[in-house]
Amino acid sequence: YARERSRFRRDLELIYARGYRPVTISQVLDRKIDLPRGLSPVVFVFDDASPGQFKYIERNGKLEVDPGSGVGIWLDFKKTKPDWPNSAVFCMLSGAAVGRSFFGEKNIEGQKSEWRFPKVKFLADNGFELCDHTLWHANLSKYSDAVVQEQIARGVLAIDSAVPGYKVRTFALPLGVWPKNRALAKQGSWTDPKSGKVTRYNFDAILEVSGGPTESPHDPKFNPLSINRIEVFGMELEKTLDRLDKNGSRYVSDGNPATVAKPAPVVAKP
Ligand SMILES: [Zn+2]
Repeated sequence: YARERSRFRRDLELIYARGYRPVTISQVLDRKIDLPRGLSPVVFVFDDASPGQFKYIERNGKLEVDPGSGVGIWLDFKKTKPDWPNSAVFCMLSGAAVGRSFFGEKNIEGQKSEWRFPKVKFLADNGFELCDHTLWHANLSKYSDAVVQEQIARGVLAIDSAVPGYKVRTFALPLGVWPKNRALAKQGSWTDPKSGKVTRYNFDAILEVSGGPTESPHDPKFNPLSINRIEVFGMELEKTLDRLDKNGSRYVSDGNPATVAKPAPVVAKP
């Protein structure tokens, strides 16, 4: 799903004006949503690692973030909003078609293959959370246990190649579809037949593709292994924010990290 550039900028403005600030899934899991009094958390999740989300342009031999790409719009927005951290989550494919391989390759949309790892590293270095979304977006319900684990583990392995030692905590189900053996979405391993190297994964969080706002991590109903999201299309964002305000289920920080605020952070998916 793709959000038009100007709409994405407006989404950021809207969500900021309505008192939301971004946090990562890791912060939610660790209950480290330390926001000033009166503000609410939102988790931005970018799926698929398409080139449009993060483009480089080469100028005088130097790489610059394309200001028209998702990351460019985010960083530009942040310039005027000092209380807007780089707390977004990128659930990436590492080897899918049409450039959905760490934000572009083989000159698709002008993106070079050798820029892939630097982009992933840039995200990690700048505070964004890296999340696995499999190798090429297989519908996991249609494959054997072995293929399911290979798909997931190779996503983790690719992230480790770009950012050695990075602990991937979050996994987004392609299409929101579970494997037949659901336990394999959380934990598994794959042995590279060529090198014999074993890659293991054991996630703390699994993201669904839709389902509405998630519960607060302080709510007993919160299940980190099935976190719902809102798909941002049309007026969905506005409607969701209105609904949270109306039914009183919006999570509002009391400014004291030691006490527990009311449920529900919004998980959006631009
Ligand atoms: Zn996807």
